[in-house]
Amino acid sequence: MSFIHSLLFLRCPKCRTGKMFQYKPYSFKGISSLNKKCPHCNTPYSLEPSFFYGSMYVSYALGVALAVAVYVLLLLVGLGKNALTAFFTIATAIIVLSPYVYQLSKVIWASFFIKYDSKKSSEN
Ligand SMILES: [Zn+2]
Repeated sequence: MSFIHSLLFLRCPKCRTGKMFQYKPYSFKGISSLNKKCPHCNTPYSLEPSFFYGSMYVSYALGVALAVAVYVLLLLVGLGKNALTAFFTIATAIIVLSPYVYQLSKVIWASFFIKYDSKKSSEN
């Protein structure tokens, strides 16, 4: 699995096979269902206490990128000049995608510190 692929599918940064979260982002069982360690390679995810606080910065960056992308899309479609339409469309996109962005930001944050190991990936 490629790096981008493993990020988008919320996989473990070490093996790119195990799922980092117990439940999918839009499951009502809970979006904050981060596994303590990888179910495939047993890599612990929380490297120190409060490790995932830093993922807030990633989440913020993803939110800004999403807002810019939606605004550019609106401009291309011809709806971007109306400020109210742009505002509510961007707000809706951010709210609808927030469970996925929440989990994705934790996976991206963890992948800054946990390096990929191809040997872990081939184990089954
Ligand atoms: Zn793993």
